[in-house]
Amino acid sequence: MSKKHIYDVLVIGAGQSGLACGYYLRRTDLDYLIVDNQEKCGGAWNKAWKSLTLFSPAEHSSLPGWLMPKSQQEFPAKEEVIDYICQYEQRYKLRVKRPVQVKDVRKESDYFKIITDSVTFYSKSVISATGTWRKPFIPDVPGKDQFEGRQIHSAYYQGPDELISKKVLIVGEGNSGAQILAEVSKVGETSWATQKPPEFLPDDVDGRVLFDQASAKYYAEQKGEKFDMSKYNLGNIVMVPSVKEARDRKVLHSKGQVKSFYKRGVIWESGEEEAFDVVIWCTGFSYVTDHLQNIVSTDERGKINTTGTQSIEEANLWLVGYGGWTGFASATLIGVGRSARSTVQDITNKIGKKA
Ligand code: FAD
Repeated sequence: MSKKHIYDVLVIGAGQSGLACGYYLRRTDLDYLIVDNQEKCGGAWNKAWKSLTLFSPAEHSSLPGWLMPKSQQEFPAKEEVIDYICQYEQRYKLRVKRPVQVKDVRKESDYFKIITDSVTFYSKSVISATGTWRKPFIPDVPGKDQFEGRQIHSAYYQGPDELISKKVLIVGEGNSGAQILAEVSKVGETSWATQKPPEFLPDDVDGRVLFDQASAKYYAEQKGEKFDMSKYNLGNIVMVPSVKEARDRKVLHSKGQVKSFYKRGVIWESGEEEAFDVVIWCTGFSYVTDHLQNIVSTDERGKINTTGTQSIEEANLWLVGYGGWTGFASATLIGVGRSARSTVQDITNKIGKKA
């Protein structure tokens, strides 16, 4: 019987986060492999709606080592991001195997057994970088299952073509809500439901300013100094051209919160009933961590307790790219590099190979 191969690091997920880890792993002596369940490179960006644009220019949307090439418009389009991520994988000859669906991770003596839909892998450590896109989150609004119209989450929204002349409710006060509202309102009649009043950034503040300010805050806090970021919340709406244009058409108005649903529509907080054909939930995501349920516990949205990116319960497991709880701005192209670098540094320290 052949001896089983035990990797030093197995990375699950080859989206921007897994590849950023790969960039640092290839500079070490660590024996690593990245696996991904998709046929094609590019991670979740392949699932996004056609017109999605980044909220920062290319040079502020880059993975470690190689700047994203300049985009045609000021903000890179989805296809340009996919091209960049695919070329990044090739440029650094990252060891990626796809399609491989990881079904379960188990502990076997002092290494992990990674069970997939094909081969079983063994590894001393695991980096999970599986993102959020497969876990759309929809809040529990009373009566939502009675609604007889169509409900779509932004994860499955592809464009406004099917919504011509429909009455559409957009739920959610983030960037996806604003961008989807902007385009659907051109073809249908829209209303906007938000939990709190939407906060728009000044026109001259885009992702570039947000990241610079947030970095300044990070370094100020490292020195024990205070830094006021209240004006520059990373979740506030960036006035990309489509959203500015929607503002000019005066459609960017929230009607407040939905109290409940009935068969044909919603009842607003004010008590007003309004009928809709379609509801689009732009209400965010949970975390894709089901494959880890046999080695660590998660909360109801899949979040795992970590120090930095390292799991507290399982010291040889790292989580990269899921959002604030795995490192500042780690769910963004520019932010994930820092988390990836510190993760690979932790692993080299632990396994004792050269960084
Ligand atoms: P993913 O890209 O989801 O990659 C994870 C990979 O793992 C996928 O290929 C997935 O199929 C695979 N996988 C999952 N489970 C398994 C498994 N069990 N086995 C094997 N493979 C698995 N970011 C920016 O930087 N700038 C922006 O302007 C920006 N705008 C955004 C706008 C919107 C509306 C949204 C929703 C996101 C935006 N983002 C932006 C964030 C960005 O899209 C995501 O955070 C990013 O795709 C996450 O990358 P990831 O590598 O962590 O996850």
